[in-house]
Amino acid sequence: MILLIEDEPEIRRFLRTTLPVHGFRLHEAATGQEGLTEAKARNPDLLLLDLGLPDLDGGEVIRQVREWTSTPIIVLSARDQEQEKVAALDLGADDYVTKPFGVNELLARIRTALRHATRTGDGGESVFALGDLKVDLGRRQVFVSEKEAHLTPIEYKLLTTLIRYAGKVLTHRQLLKEVWGPLHVDEGHYLRVYMRQLRNKLERNPAHPRYLVTELGVGYRLRTE
Ligand code: CA
Repeated sequence: MILLIEDEPEIRRFLRTTLPVHGFRLHEAATGQEGLTEAKARNPDLLLLDLGLPDLDGGEVIRQVREWTSTPIIVLSARDQEQEKVAALDLGADDYVTKPFGVNELLARIRTALRHATRTGDGGESVFALGDLKVDLGRRQVFVSEKEAHLTPIEYKLLTTLIRYAGKVLTHRQLLKEVWGPLHVDEGHYLRVYMRQLRNKLERNPAHPRYLVTELGVGYRLRTE
């Protein structure tokens, strides 16, 4: 069951008519407080959360939900909410869509988030394959078109972090924290330098990356298809 926390009746109506058609049960809440109560009562498989709620800040909803559950949260943000969107991801939201969004984009995000939620801990597949890129996580080997690419330890860590969250957006701060540690979350230049190196080694055309895509103003996402 998906819980939608959104005060705009048009968006609620849109999702009420489209999501069930694609096999998702939907529950609705129009305020942050109602949403928190519903979330606790119903333990949803996924939360769709509007950031601009009348009573509570969306970030506060994420903070409170994250106190007791790791259920996936996809944020619905307006175009002028860049900062709030990034903050929401840093607080533990899994992904975002920007309004107005198409139903196909939202469905893709929902499926990715649910797939992640059901994946077991650090197990998962030991080989990640995507196009001509193959990463053998057991042997720590990376291949591009069957040829081994030699990565530095940091490049490899950056790549495997993106693989762990494949399909999901990671903010600059999340990546810096995972790869370099919590004291380096503001060293955005590390990330730019290493992402460029990684693209040079893995992408056929590093200026137009197919795998390691930039989410403008937010972070990076490793494509899954
Ligand atoms: Ca709103």
